[in-house]
Amino acid sequence: TEQTLGRLAEESWTRFDDHDSMFYEDVWHRSHALAERARRMCGGFAEAGIRPGDRVVVMMANSPEVPLIYQALWAAGAVVTPVVFLVAPDELRHILRDSEATAIVTSPELVENVRAADVKIPIYVDTGELERADERGAVARDPGDLAALMYTGGTTGKAKGVMLSHHGLWHVAKDVFEMSHQEGKNRALLPVPLSHAYGLIVTVASLHATEPQQAVLMRWFEPKAFLRLAAEQRVQYGTVVPTMLQLLLAEPLEEHPLPDLAFLTCGAAPLGRDVLEEFERRMPGTQILEGYGLTETSVVTTFNPPGRRKAGSVGLPLGGYSITVRDNEGEAMEIGDVGEICVSGDSLMLGYWGEQEADPEGTALVGKELRTGDIGCVDDDGYLYIVDRKKDLIIRGGFNVFPRDVEDALNRHPEVVLSGVVGRPEPRVGEEVVAFVQLKEGAAVTAEELIEWARDRVGRVKYPREVRFVDSVPVTSVLKLDRKALRTMLD
Ligand code: ATP
Repeated sequence: TEQTLGRLAEESWTRFDDHDSMFYEDVWHRSHALAERARRMCGGFAEAGIRPGDRVVVMMANSPEVPLIYQALWAAGAVVTPVVFLVAPDELRHILRDSEATAIVTSPELVENVRAADVKIPIYVDTGELERADERGAVARDPGDLAALMYTGGTTGKAKGVMLSHHGLWHVAKDVFEMSHQEGKNRALLPVPLSHAYGLIVTVASLHATEPQQAVLMRWFEPKAFLRLAAEQRVQYGTVVPTMLQLLLAEPLEEHPLPDLAFLTCGAAPLGRDVLEEFERRMPGTQILEGYGLTETSVVTTFNPPGRRKAGSVGLPLGGYSITVRDNEGEAMEIGDVGEICVSGDSLMLGYWGEQEADPEGTALVGKELRTGDIGCVDDDGYLYIVDRKKDLIIRGGFNVFPRDVEDALNRHPEVVLSGVVGRPEPRVGEEVVAFVQLKEGAAVTAEELIEWARDRVGRVKYPREVRFVDSVPVTSVLKLDRKALRTMLD
């Protein structure tokens, strides 16, 4: 059969005997009932006039329906445009117009936000209406066809649509499953938003499963609920982002042993080496497997397979990708040298939607190679290391300051929960290093003490000249540091 996500979903519906498949808000849902619902939704979309190639926006908080909607849309031949439920009406309007979506599926509590975006297309609230249709299976699609139009760039500029093919998502997801799967470890805790790239690829990876999978779904990450659910449901692995680990470290982990939890995959943002080490020390038996990727590479580019992990590295290329590190002139660099990470392979995005407008300099895709905008290096064994993002670099008095180094140092302070570092324009030195810091409850450390702490660790050039305390460091829907928000807090 052709390697399309519709066919893959269809195969997954009948691959295993009926089993408990998804746990959400105290209820286990059975796999065959969920599959039947997906088939009905597929019929519902077709009856509603959704044609192959149509873009359908899915803007929902995590719920068992989200993966079913994706499967149903792919089976119907449509293009999934997931939108994280936190977007402002302006951004949603931009996405709806830009994608020329033909319908939107949302949840009751978000309908107001959708209406505020002045939507002129049919709005499906939940899936009730769609599920009244007759069941249908997958229509034929070409692997090169568009499967998902994913909007990215929320943290740096106007969101642009990344066009991902069935082929790309199919292959990357297969490698994600194969590289991360450990036999007998099939019960996962999912605290990441399914409407974000990370959550989406995790749901596609599970369609490739060779053993029946069980997902414990969280509506939203909250450290106490994470620990409670993981223990109660005896989950065996999970998917997290670095901020989640940091927030978990602020909890009394020793009181919540999770002997069943074999590993956590972690990605989407820089993971401090000390965060990894402290977490593994305080949660014995749980290994952190870091991966790296961009939406443009069908979400995942590299991953650390268990048994062959290198702490501090984001792992080995998957999806048939190869990585070249290039200098500012575009020349390939030697092993170990730090430069821009460039990725080539046939699972890359098809391009940006409305290419000309979205990529004015035409810099992202050069032929079949993607310039990631990330800085890093590759070691002798082919493992990739990320230094930071090119665009986040602060240049102070002519010196390069990677905010990540400063953040890692601050985050190591026992009274710090989270920090975010940005540059404030400053005529004398160009940019001044400013840190926003969220402290643990009842912490008594002063700004001066933190400045000194950081100076002792990153040196006299890079240390933050200013530390500002905040109740919470702004993060995006997938709990990445929101640097755009941080910069607006500078004024
Ligand atoms: P934009 O980058 O356009 O503002 P975004 O952050 O939502 O939007 P994504 O495609 O979701 O875009 O994220 C890709 C970026 O996330 C990578 O370019 C890289 O900077 C960062 N990233 C992902 N995984 C890691 C990791 N393991 N370590 C460091 N950075 C990572």
